[in-house]
Amino acid sequence: MPCDARGVLLITRQMEGTATNVARQRIELHCSLPEGHAGAHRDASQNQDWLVVQGRPTLLLRDESESPGNTER
Ligand SMILES: [Zn+2]
Repeated sequence: MPCDARGVLLITRQMEGTATNVARQRIELHCSLPEGHAGAHRDASQNQDWLVVQGRPTLLLRDESESPGNTER
């Protein structure tokens, strides 16, 4: 059986001229490692790993403000 731990990944981008991070995209993560694995959970399809704090929903933020194509300074 797969581990199937879940998390949520929010892609954020900082608004130009402000300190506000805006969520651009919300991606659901499912751990694709075998049940009982050691270490961080991992969603291979998103190339993202994460740790779960017991009893709390996992929310990850990925800031893509500096991604190519958005290099205006
Ligand atoms: Zn897992």
